[in-house]
Amino acid sequence: MNNDSLEDASELSYIDAHCHIGHDIDGTRQTAEILLVKMDQCGIDHAIIFPFNEYLQRDCFKRANTLIANLMNDHPEQFTGFCRLDPHSPLAIAELKRCVNELGLRGIKLHPRAQNLDIDALYMMPIFELAENYDMPILIHTSGIVKGIDPIKSANIVHKFPNVNFIMGHSYKAHYGITSNDSNSSSAFREILELAYQQKNVYFETSFLPTAYLEELIEKIGAGQVVFGSDSPYGDPCWEKLTIEALDIPKSEKIKISKTNISLLIE
Ligand SMILES: [Zn+2]
Repeated sequence: MNNDSLEDASELSYIDAHCHIGHDIDGTRQTAEILLVKMDQCGIDHAIIFPFNEYLQRDCFKRANTLIANLMNDHPEQFTGFCRLDPHSPLAIAELKRCVNELGLRGIKLHPRAQNLDIDALYMMPIFELAENYDMPILIHTSGIVKGIDPIKSANIVHKFPNVNFIMGHSYKAHYGITSNDSNSSSAFREILELAYQQKNVYFETSFLPTAYLEELIEKIGAGQVVFGSDSPYGDPCWEKLTIEALDIPKSEKIKISKTNISLLIE
């Protein structure tokens, strides 16, 4: 009997690496109370929370980041907060410093489509440099074909900042080499997988991905760089959890994906 079958009776515990609280310009809302109920129903022990693309953000997400920090302080067992930024804002660097030094937030969330970002542009560099100094992981939305987050651009920043841990939200779903018709994006996607395999500072977050995709990803880069996420409230944590449970991999690897990998990044 191997270790996996000995462990099989116990349930996995989960940290959700991708949850929003606040009020998006698209009308979507989620409160901490609602998320806590979902976590309880789905068996999620802890969640990383950050703002939506907030409908009021002229202050570079200042008000939204403060809310996230207050919720983290109110529910330290349940929540870890990340700082959302608009890198185009003249307030971005001051806000990032405030997020760390005053609010105690533990990572950064960036959204290339919502904030119209070119992820490897010069204006991004001060943010990555500070993330490196502060040892903060950065979760970047990578779903859909968005020019600013093309895999080639991601490879550039991953290469340039080997000490920053990048978490690729939705794991480049649209660029996945096997399903994509665009051979350029396929080869760029293979390049980022190769870089991830070599440098170990790239993590792939699981929301909205089918099991076959995840199994192939794990085969290529290993389970040590895959982290569970739901993108709640856009994704359903219960459903996303079922995807992990259904993976045809050893339980020891599911434990890494459901909890261990992300907990090492936010401890
Ligand atoms: Zn999201």
